[in-house]
Amino acid sequence: MSKRRPFVAGNWKMNGSRAESAALLDGVKAGVSNASKAEVAVCPPFILIPLAAEKLAGSAVAWGGQNLNVNKSGAFTGEISGPMLKDFGCSYVIVGHSERRSLYGESDATVAEKYGAAQAHGLIPILCVGETLAEREGNQTEAVVARQLDAVLAKHGVASLKNAIIAYEPVWAIGTGKTATPQQAQDVHRFIRERIAKQDKGVADAVRILYGGSMKGSNAGELIGQPDIDGGLIGGASLVADEFLAICRAAD
Ligand code: PEP
Repeated sequence: MSKRRPFVAGNWKMNGSRAESAALLDGVKAGVSNASKAEVAVCPPFILIPLAAEKLAGSAVAWGGQNLNVNKSGAFTGEISGPMLKDFGCSYVIVGHSERRSLYGESDATVAEKYGAAQAHGLIPILCVGETLAEREGNQTEAVVARQLDAVLAKHGVASLKNAIIAYEPVWAIGTGKTATPQQAQDVHRFIRERIAKQDKGVADAVRILYGGSMKGSNAGELIGQPDIDGGLIGGASLVADEFLAICRAAD
């Protein structure tokens, strides 16, 4: 059993009316208690963060953003900064999600900058890494994940991982209903931990590495039961309270 506290985060992506989100927040809050072993967080779209703050204040569920701008404020139309997220009670922010990398052209260098900006403003970055199907089929999985991780470690140092969470999200498994097998996921999680351990074994042992990619209540237990898998970053299944709570229970 892992000595690290399990962590389950929901990435709502661009989903949810105000009414649907209020019901979802109420449902998640009702199902997660302070006695839960797993730490739980939800990352709604920016516009719903005040609602999350209102609904979740004082509960066992934290909240965070899905992205941030690296600047504090200024002429960046359409953007949201770290201090703004912090002001609305966010504890976490996702950086480097594959959709940001592929649809919005975020490079490893940009992701590393965002990771640093998050930490500079008191937010814990959830750093996403993962390979595409073509990269996996070309035996590039480890090289890709290493490159994405190294960009952050080179800029911010291995000690920065004391205040970060990593999410391994194979791109081919995100939103596809195709989950990595527990062994496939465990192999990459171990690779990531061993790579960090080459720089600092203590940090490697402590850092939480989540799996993301079509995780649901029915497959969460087996995935999170792997020695190097410390929880999940959940997309689709985080939009259904009962499904998300089933994953939280599996992580408990
Ligand atoms: C995600 O968007 O981070 C994700 C893992 O999505 P899904 O659970 O829907 O595959």
